[in-house]
Amino acid sequence: MWKGSENLKNYAPNYDFVSFGQSQIYIGDYSGKKPKKNIKGHIDITIICLDNVYIGSGFFSSRNKSICNEPIKFRNDCIIPGSSFKGALRNIASAVSEACLPKFKKKEDKKPNNNECNDKQRCIVCDMFGTVNYASRLIIPDFKAEKADTEILELNVQYGPNPKNKKYKNEDGLSKGYKFYKTYCEKYNDDKKIEVNTVKKGSKFTGRIYFSNISKEQLSLLLFSMGIDGSFNMKIGGFKNQGLGRIKIEVLDSKIEVISSENKVTASEDITNKSPLELAQEYPNNTQSRKRQIEELKKILKP
Ligand SMILES: [Zn+2]
Repeated sequence: MWKGSENLKNYAPNYDFVSFGQSQIYIGDYSGKKPKKNIKGHIDITIICLDNVYIGSGFFSSRNKSICNEPIKFRNDCIIPGSSFKGALRNIASAVSEACLPKFKKKEDKKPNNNECNDKQRCIVCDMFGTVNYASRLIIPDFKAEKADTEILELNVQYGPNPKNKKYKNEDGLSKGYKFYKTYCEKYNDDKKIEVNTVKKGSKFTGRIYFSNISKEQLSLLLFSMGIDGSFNMKIGGFKNQGLGRIKIEVLDSKIEVISSENKVTASEDITNKSPLELAQEYPNNTQSRKRQIEELKKILKP
């Protein structure tokens, strides 16, 4: 703990890391078989804000004597942009799978054996979320407010992450892992405050996520990464280290199809009778290589 550190005495380190593992090109599924990317469908979800959420628009309003950071809206309603949700989801999916490692700007920060993903070869995450010259197999639109109130909060100024910070590195200079802000944040007081117009706790957003040409394992990973099994809660948006951004995903409806080919789908491969919850639960049970990372993630993002 660096709580006592002189210049940062008011700052609470409300984050922890999920350690990096070995990355793999996605050529084998859980059982080592070549993955069949023959699943398509959609899932309708509700995003419930368990804490206030702030996704900034970059715009400000003037209020009394101060200025206030305004959330992103479509017309007059708050939204959760699909891109913000997708980013948070991808981060979790990467942490709990054999995904390629994040790119570091400096050469010496790069971990060895980090296979680059591209249009020819990809890890399980880039294969689903897309990468350079390779389109995403997911469509995640903006989530519309079903019920959203706003609340102005006075928060500590956020400082941008500093990857040079030693707290992010192991002794060998490599990054410690995927950084996640904890569910339960310790409060801290900075001298610099700003006003932020947030989406109030209890607000609800809905939307439909489409997927096509993905494998059963990828679908399970996708669903698990949303925390549908109830083992953790995602966090999105800004001020996560001050307790904002915690959300819960509920499945309203889904349609999952196996695209037929010459080879008939065998009964064991047919997943259309399985619910999104069952598919989400399968991921941590079936994955062999990332049990440790899943436990680390659950500890940080515990409900
Ligand atoms: Zn990749």
